Amino acid sequence: MANIRVCARFRPAILQDDGEVLHFARSDSRSFTLQDENDEHHTFSFDKVFYKDSEQADVYEFLASHLVRDVVKGINGTIITYGETGAGKTYTMEGANIMETENYKKGLLPRVVDELFEVISLCGEATAYKIKLSMVEIYMERVRDLLDLSKDNIQIEEHEEHGMLLCGSTEILISDGEEALKLLSSGIANRAVGESKTNKASSRSHCIYIFTVEKEVANEKRVSTGKLVLVDLTGSETTDADGRALEEAKTIKKSLSALENMIDALISGQENHISFRDSKITRILQATLGGSFQTALLCCCSPGLCHFPKTLCTLLFGARIK
Ligand code: ADP
Ligand code: MG
Repeated sequence: MANIRVCARFRPAILQDDGEVLHFARSDSRSFTLQDENDEHHTFSFDKVFYKDSEQADVYEFLASHLVRDVVKGINGTIITYGETGAGKTYTMEGANIMETENYKKGLLPRVVDELFEVISLCGEATAYKIKLSMVEIYMERVRDLLDLSKDNIQIEEHEEHGMLLCGSTEILISDGEEALKLLSSGIANRAVGESKTNKASSRSHCIYIFTVEKEVANEKRVSTGKLVLVDLTGSETTDADGRALEEAKTIKKSLSALENMIDALISGQENHISFRDSKITRILQATLGGSFQTALLCCCSPGLCHFPKTLCTLLFGARIK
């Protein structure tokens, strides 16, 4: 697919249940060969591969920095983290914590904020910028506003110019990095509603961060708008669950397969046959993947050998797009 960068990231083995780690028969900065328990080899190539010692700053540089510089020029972009629960999606997106002060632990979001304000501060006074932030999550096919929990069923509308619109979702003007981080932090805290130890709501929902950058040049009537959309997808695994958890698992599976189908159709050039309406995530990402956006997809992988079947699925998904 044009305009898409697909990368893979393996997090370090730091969790108790990681167990024995995957064996890399070969690896370099763009490809690797994994050796499974039956000594079979699986080779994958991506635009870039980040291994266990990779720095958050390097992931940002390759995946996001160019999109941030472009959104200021009015070019839309999207960054998606994909992979099973525990693979490092949220660590990549938010960092160890969204308010993290240790630089090496800072995730994509605080770095996006830093660079956005840095880039616009370097522009002359003839250009005025407005940066707005919206945050929603999709849980059980309902779009919830994370900046205003009273809006728990946001509708999605297609818009000729903007691609998609989240009707009535809260958009807050942010004037500096500190304000942005506080807002992100409160939105993320709202994500945790209904969370229990065994069934973390935050990993059962897709989380979507939308930065809208409006640029107004003095003496020009036109205002140009760019959107940068960051998506922390829900865990791609299927679970052995019952009751409510089973309903959740089915809904998640349906929305991720709608996303996979949409991407497959886009790759094979059969865009006209795609039913974007299949699920909320495809409707929101329609403008992102089908339109003029530039996209970066990060396939997050756990290092444990026992996770290999799920890791393989994650990598196969990414490789199909590449
Ligand atoms: P996911 O969002 O995919 O479910 P998380 O991002 O929550 O996974 O990661 C699972 C755990 O691993 C968390 O405790 C997180 O802090 C840790 N982790 C993930 N990636 C890294 C990394 N690159 N370096 C250090 N710790 C990491
Ligand atoms: Mg997560």
